[in-house]
Amino acid sequence: MSDSIKSFDQLKLSSQIQKSLDRMGFLAPTPVQAQTIPLMVDGYDVIAKAPTGSGKTFAFGIPIVEGLDYSITDIQAVIVCPTRELCIQIASELRELAAFCPKVHIATLYGGQPIAKQFKSLKQQPQIVVATPGRLLDHIGRGTVWLGNAYTAVLDEADEMLKMGFISDVRKILNTTPADTQMVMFSATISREVMDIAWQYQRNTVEVNISNEGENRPKIAQFSLVSSGNRRHQDMLNIIEQLDLHRVIVFCNMKSTVRHVSNRLIKSGCSVQGLHGDIPQRRRNHIMNGFRNGNFDVLVATDVAARGIDVEDVDAVFNYDIPDENEYYLHRIGRTGRAKQRGLSFTFVTENDAFRMRDIKKYTHSQITEVEYNKQGRLVLKSGTLLSNSINTDSH
Ligand code: ADP
Ligand code: MG
Repeated sequence: MSDSIKSFDQLKLSSQIQKSLDRMGFLAPTPVQAQTIPLMVDGYDVIAKAPTGSGKTFAFGIPIVEGLDYSITDIQAVIVCPTRELCIQIASELRELAAFCPKVHIATLYGGQPIAKQFKSLKQQPQIVVATPGRLLDHIGRGTVWLGNAYTAVLDEADEMLKMGFISDVRKILNTTPADTQMVMFSATISREVMDIAWQYQRNTVEVNISNEGENRPKIAQFSLVSSGNRRHQDMLNIIEQLDLHRVIVFCNMKSTVRHVSNRLIKSGCSVQGLHGDIPQRRRNHIMNGFRNGNFDVLVATDVAARGIDVEDVDAVFNYDIPDENEYYLHRIGRTGRAKQRGLSFTFVTENDAFRMRDIKKYTHSQITEVEYNKQGRLVLKSGTLLSNSINTDSH
């Protein structure tokens, strides 16, 4: 039934929400939205598997905002996600969605921010709370958050969050919600931990499965190149220059590499900022906003720091190091090619990584083309061929 939904009209949204969707220029729901919204409105528990960039935030955001009861002063919906950045991101998207609903208050609760500031925003009686598990539990313990009347609980990026060791915190949080709370989980993969939580806390469950293929698959032209040590630096600069890339994210496996790569890029004259877990929260927010606003060209980041971050129009993603986990590969390259635009990704590999690369190709069902060097040892990069390649990468 929900498969047949093709337009926002069919979802019978309020005029306020419709107005903000119009203002954002969204013409039609994405597949995960078309399937999830009616289920959530009907009160089902949902477990949705959908790839990065498929529009999950509004898949739960729209039914939550639409379902608010303004006569209730308790928290009505809680969204739990793995990182501070993601909290901020989700809250800002929801605020934009609720731009014409003046009564909606949304609080963000995450570690690293002074708790006093959060007390203040909780005093405004938010209907919606977006939080990381640790800080949320802290508030619940202090009695500054009470979920005893919460109608909906969402776990966003559930696989990632549960894998990060938050599973017992998540359980403790869910244990404070009423037994009949609607429980909705979004995940790129349905891991063992995700299944465990689903078994324990969902009752009236419907599964939504959005494949990573065809229309949903972002058009990302993926390349690998054999390059290691400092050679990667020059190769990266060549690619950025030859393809005239303006917004680039470089992923590294370690904080120390983020520092090293940022410094080298700065010395080469690029405008660069690094993002990793040791950077104080306020500074991280500032950096993310700067990147979103185009104040600098290259963001160098670790996986955790960049988790779930949505920045429009990233031209290319570089994997300075091959990611340790296959899922990270998907999450990383998912930063480009958002909302069906085109994107490029370049993964640096050593000779020893051939096996890892094969594994990633198998896992992602994607074509990853090796970029070669010519006899002079220069990369063979003709922007024409590279870009025309990008049209065909979703065949596999
Ligand atoms: P996910 O959480 O699945 O990775 P997001 O919810 O962050 O994806 O959405 C990805 C991008 O698509 C965002 O820039 C968002 O604003 C945009 N988007 C969401 N819904 C729609 C829609 N219906 N039409 C067009 N773009 C959309
Ligand atoms: Mg998301």
